[in-house]
Amino acid sequence: MNDRNELEQRVEELNTLLTEYGRAYYVLDKPVATDAEYDKLMQELLAIEAENPDLIYPDSPTQRVGGSVLEGFTKVEHDYPMLSLSNVFNEEDIREFDRRVRDAVGDKVSYICELKIDGLAVSLKYDNGRFVQGSTRGDGSVGEDITANLKTIRSIPLKLSEPIKIEVRGEAYMPKKSFVRLNEARDEAGEEPFANPRNAAAGSLRQLDPKIAGSRNLAVFLYGIGGDGEAYGQATHSEALDYLDKLDLVTNHERKRCKSIEEVIEYVDSWGDKRSELDYEIDGIVIKVDSFEDQEQLGYTAKSPRWATAYKFPAEEVVTKLLDIQLSV
Ligand code: NAD
Repeated sequence: MNDRNELEQRVEELNTLLTEYGRAYYVLDKPVATDAEYDKLMQELLAIEAENPDLIYPDSPTQRVGGSVLEGFTKVEHDYPMLSLSNVFNEEDIREFDRRVRDAVGDKVSYICELKIDGLAVSLKYDNGRFVQGSTRGDGSVGEDITANLKTIRSIPLKLSEPIKIEVRGEAYMPKKSFVRLNEARDEAGEEPFANPRNAAAGSLRQLDPKIAGSRNLAVFLYGIGGDGEAYGQATHSEALDYLDKLDLVTNHERKRCKSIEEVIEYVDSWGDKRSELDYEIDGIVIKVDSFEDQEQLGYTAKSPRWATAYKFPAEEVVTKLLDIQLSV
């Protein structure tokens, strides 16, 4: 077999494997591979596709966001797509991201770094200040209506401090302690434990009976406005997050505005060990260009914004992370 045939065969294998892993993770909330295994295969596929654009198939997992909508839920068409994030894995990747950003918008760029909460992406719509609809990301264009489940989360206000119409995006998650308690209860009841807090949160919110979500002590951090942040008078993402706080929406306060990529790297490094002290799981750091004008100039790929990227913590720490949960209770 020649090199080209081998490459085509490998691409087909990777497409099949990643699609299967993605379905288990996104649709069934029961992963069959570790995140590190999934990320490694995804990077291999991205590298082959970058060298051989003719091998990028429309249904390649590199071209699609997340999963699909579960039967039984009403579908919600998103007014603004809910996208994924590109990933970076080391300091050199972070510097490369910075170079691409500065090439496009100039050297004066500022970043905002946020913790990458490991849960389920949700979108919350408020009308006249009242919570009217909440949904999952789904395939990025169409998600599941999980309003009743989200209403059980105490950190989601049913009424904002201002009577405005706004869509906000965030991550619903299960605190580590709730996760350990839930798995202990499941063990006692002879039920299969959840693989990790992320899957437990996603599994809880994608239940048709809201009593289940209500019993699981979920929480939420909001990390952005859906659509045009400037429409609310904000010029930067950090201002938009402060505005969400004013509206009584819960944001994560570990965020940091960074004036250089050195500061970003320092922030990323500082969380390597510290993250085990948090009461919730994070799987990385999200680095975002702060100015909305710069964001607009950078734009989007089909799957993710060019103005943001997610640094993923190294795989060996995933093991420690799981041990931490067991030891900290
Ligand atoms: P992602 O997890 O790489 O990043 C996008 C998501 O990050 C957003 O949708 C958002 O919900 C979340 N996020 C958390 N905090 C945020 C913040 N502060 N700002 C912005 N967004 C924030 O993308 P993805 O497409 O959801 O998932 C891909 C990842 O999921 C993979 O890298 C892999 O680790 C994991 N995965 C694992 C398997 C498996 O089999 N184990 C399968 C599929 C995916």
